[in-house]
This record gives sequence, C-alpha cells and structure tokens, in this order.
Amino acid sequence: MSAVLRATGIHKSFGDREVLKGVDVSLAAHEVVALIGASGSGKSTLLRCLGLLEPIDDGQIFLGDEDISDPRVDGNRVRARLGAVFQSFNLFPHLSVLDNVTLASRVVHRVPRREAETRARELLARVGLADKAKDHPDRLSGGQQQRVAIARAIATDPEVLLLDEITSALDPELVGEVLELVRDLASEGATILMATHEMAFARDVADHVVFLDAGTIVEQGPPSEVLRHPREERTRAFLARFT
Ligand code: ADP
Ligand code: MG
Repeated sequence: MSAVLRATGIHKSFGDREVLKGVDVSLAAHEVVALIGASGSGKSTLLRCLGLLEPIDDGQIFLGDEDISDPRVDGNRVRARLGAVFQSFNLFPHLSVLDNVTLASRVVHRVPRREAETRARELLARVGLADKAKDHPDRLSGGQQQRVAIARAIATDPEVLLLDEITSALDPELVGEVLELVRDLASEGATILMATHEMAFARDVADHVVFLDAGTIVEQGPPSEVLRHPREERTRAFLARFT
C-alpha cells in the first residue's frame, strides 16, 4: 500500500549543528508510529519538518503522491491537510473553546460558521467537553486543553496527525484522559505519528516504533521488538531509563 506520509533522507541543521542526519520515515494509512528518543535527539524537529513548520536542508517529503518538500508548494495548503498538537497548550487564549475548534475550518477551509460549529460541538462531545464550548482555554485544566487541541486538530479531517509529546506538560493525573483519546482515534483509523515518552502507551497503541538518537534512526520495528527486545545497545540504554 502506498504511504500517506513518506520522508526520505531528511537533513536539518540549526547553524552548524546538524539535528537530523538523513532520516527516513513512512506512515501507511491508519498506521500509528511512535517516535521515541532522548530529549534533544531531534523528535520535535522531525515532526516540525514533516509538518512544514520548519524548512529542511535536504531530503524529500511526500504527502500522498505530492512532494510537499518542493519549494514551490503552497505551505498553507499542505498544512491544512495535517493536524498537529504540541507539548505546550497552544490554544488561542483570546478565543472560546468553540472558536478554537472552528477557526481553521472557517478560515482555511471556508466552511460556513453554522456548519463548522455543528461539527465542532460534535467533536467537543467526542472529547468529553461538550459543556466547555463557550469557555476560554484558561478556564480548563491542562488535560482538557489538550483534548480541545486534539479536537481542533481533527476538525479538518487531516490525513495525518502529528503529535509532539502531548502529555509531557500535564500533571500525571491528567495524562490518562489524553492518551485514552489518542487510543480511540487510533482505533478509529487515524494515521498518527507521535513523539512520546509514554513507553507503555507506545507498546500498546503503536504499530511501529522509531528510535531516534542524535538525529539518526538507530532502530525501528514493531513495539514487541524495539521496546521488548531491542537489538541496539543505544536503544537498550535509552529504554533502561524507563524501567
Ligand atoms: P527533541 O524533541 O527530541 O527533544 P528537538 O528536535 O527539540 O529534540 O531538538 C534537537 C536539537 O535541535 C536540540 O539540540 C535543540 O537544541 C536543537 N534545536 C531545536 N530547535 C532549534 C532551533 N529553532 N534553533 C536552534 N536549535 C534548535
Ligand atoms: Mg521535543
């Protein structure tokens, strides 16, 4: 089957520091890929490059059949086909929860307000926040804010969800509700690339695990292999921190 998202030979430097040293990653439709690796290994940079939030220095990125790394592509049009959620709660603080969820549909996809709001209310119900539509984000817990961010990310039916350590900034008791939602989306067939430190979650939910170390993929495969029986010493050393 052809990949939904496929990147080959991605190189990225900041100044003279090479952060991604030729990374290949691919997602089939409905596949969940967990990106693991130490802080500073390049996970966020890779997700930002794939989401066209950061230019790459070399390599190619295909979204479906389209080479989205071609400098002539309209980045806004491509970004509208992706959904991204980050570690920090980056909701628009001046907008209500409902407006946060409808904004991209209305502005980028030109969906009429009533239609966008009907869909947004369905999504808020879906993430368990139907009663928060009129609230501003600062009234919500971190877990609730991340659930709104996920509702916002899926409101435009993205082809791929890019999730960057979306539970890392949460109080421990709020992590579960967000992971549960990701688990549901995965079981409903979303295509997801997620950077995470939640190894138990990666083991349960991911189809494929990619271990990134210093900008290079050291090891990848099904969770039963990479997480349970890592072949590489660097993978073993990394995983040892979680036990
Ligand atoms: P991870 O998400 O795995 O923790 P990052 O992708 O955030 O790793 O960072 C990888 C490396 O790139 C780090 O050394 C970080 O300091 C560096 N880096 C990330 N973004 C920038 C930036 N905008 N400018 C300079 N250096 C950056
Ligand atoms: Mg990161």
